[in-house]
Amino acid sequence: MGKIILTGDRPTGRLHVGHYVGSLRRRVELQNSGEYSDIYIMIADSQALTDNADNPEKVRQNILEVALDYLSAGLDPEKSTIFIQSMVPELYEMTAYFMDIVTVSRLQRNPTVKSEIQMRNFEASIPVGFFTYPISQAADITAFKANVVPAGEDQMPMVEQTREIVHKFNTVYNTDTLVMPDILLPSNDACRRLPGTDGKAKMSKSLGNCIYLSDTEEDVKKKVMSMYTDPNHLKVSDPGQVEGNTVFTYLDAFCKDEYFAEFWPDYKNLDEVKEHYKRGGLGDVKVKKFLNRVLEEELRPIRERRKRWEQDIPAVYEILKSGSEKAERVAAQTLKEMRAAMKINYF
Ligand code: ATP
Ligand code: MG
Repeated sequence: MGKIILTGDRPTGRLHVGHYVGSLRRRVELQNSGEYSDIYIMIADSQALTDNADNPEKVRQNILEVALDYLSAGLDPEKSTIFIQSMVPELYEMTAYFMDIVTVSRLQRNPTVKSEIQMRNFEASIPVGFFTYPISQAADITAFKANVVPAGEDQMPMVEQTREIVHKFNTVYNTDTLVMPDILLPSNDACRRLPGTDGKAKMSKSLGNCIYLSDTEEDVKKKVMSMYTDPNHLKVSDPGQVEGNTVFTYLDAFCKDEYFAEFWPDYKNLDEVKEHYKRGGLGDVKVKKFLNRVLEEELRPIRERRKRWEQDIPAVYEILKSGSEKAERVAAQTLKEMRAAMKINYF
């Protein structure tokens, strides 16, 4: 069987550069490599509803925003199946069967869910759907028999939990219906969990510390120039710290050597800039200006493609509709095989 990808995003806001380096950029590369027989990209609206039940309008609107971000970043509906999670109801039935083979204590141990519960102040009142979303994520991955999940570091516990579910299901029902997935993390550390512009652990839609793919040139510049750096690097002549310095983390994630010849010929590569900064004598403003040029280089084509797609919203919905129809056909087949393995295919 060929290699199959499943990955996706929650429609809780527009996509930001953390999504881009953590997963989206990789998806486009994999899509264009031609090495994958099927690529499924899911807009996880039901998952978004698990902590936004009272705000379905926000989720509905962001389905379109995320779809526009996908198409602008270079996902090609001819090569990748883009679909809406809730339009594939088979996923709910799969989730229900998986719930019978996962314990509450196993879910409680999931570190990403733990920190997300804290972040949302859910401690005393966690919606059941939110608590169990790793199980529904296992359904999303296995429904498409995906063996590769390109995602950021926060998704490691999810894929691990999916692997356990695959093993358990196949063992209990003596079948090979479900396929064991692997996470595909970005090769570069800075991309696995890009910090926010405030230097906080993770750039996240829910924390408001993002540079969005759809931000204007002016917005990006403003955000870069006010970014968190080394708080002890007060005078240009002071030696500076590169580790934990957000501007350098972003350069690690975005900078290519070829940008130096064009935008900053004083240096050949990022290592030379880092050395100078550490020695002292290189000011934050210069580094930030360079980062802004680099980001512009990456974001300009995305922004331009977005403008074109925004002129044809019906075409975007058509892509989501036909993608969802295809996804449902595939998930229905997997569900049929699961029910047969469980011997609950009565008629
Ligand atoms: P929310 O706050 O609603 O959970 P989010 O910003 O965390 O939103 P998700 O939709 O949960 O975004 O994540 C989508 C994908 O983007 C996942 O693969 C995740 O690993 C990746 N991702 C999200 N934020 C980052 C980041 N700061 N750095 C690297 N990857 C990220
Ligand atoms: Mg998230």
